[in-house]
Amino acid sequence: MSHACKLATGNWKMNGLRADLDEARALAAGFPDAKCGILLCPPATLVCAMADALSGSAVMVGGQDCHAQTTGAHTGDISAQMLADAGARQVILGHSERRADHAETSAQVAAKAAAAHAAGLVAIICIGETESQRDAGQTLDVVLSQLAQSLPDEATSANTVIAYEPVWAIGTGRTPTLEQITEVHDALRANLPDQAISLLYGGSVKPGNAAEIFAIANVDGALVGGASLKAVDFGAIIAAL
Ligand code: PEP
Repeated sequence: MSHACKLATGNWKMNGLRADLDEARALAAGFPDAKCGILLCPPATLVCAMADALSGSAVMVGGQDCHAQTTGAHTGDISAQMLADAGARQVILGHSERRADHAETSAQVAAKAAAAHAAGLVAIICIGETESQRDAGQTLDVVLSQLAQSLPDEATSANTVIAYEPVWAIGTGRTPTLEQITEVHDALRANLPDQAISLLYGGSVKPGNAAEIFAIANVDGALVGGASLKAVDFGAIIAAL
């Protein structure tokens, strides 16, 4: 099943200063009556300012991570409730860079997703195989295991989105074949607890390859890193939705 309203999510990662809010404003100006969901996830320092800058526009704002607890002695972390309070409506969780750089497990991702849901945020949960796992023929085992372990029990299409991001395709300019994306998305769809949960593809999505990826039946949108930083590039991807 594919959704009528697709979702384009931009992940700015650790990029962006206040001056870059002009890119967010330019994006919003380009899509005054968006027919799809458009989301920008800036670094935590910009969530509040971006939410203010985009207030009343069709572009939503999200976070890139949250802690599983609501408050407490966790220096440097932010809670889902804080993101919601700053104006976020969604939060990316379990990105492969967090799984690699911070040793996040799928169980921790599920706990963070439960915290996001409790705060009223949509959790965008990332899963994906490494290149060596793909070479070893383990792709479906890896992503289905991550899917099963990263989703909290209460996950539904109203509060959860899944992003399939092959680790080897992130920031590399390399993408799986359309057949490989189809195979993984079909397997994910068949194993979702709620069939209407959106499935995003992420990994080197660019204006030049967005349309063919979005044409895949079980692709409901994209999670975009590098190409989401500039309104002209992200706008071209959104236009292909
Ligand atoms: C990402 O950060 O989730 C991502 C897919 O990055 P890129 O589009 O740059 O590959």
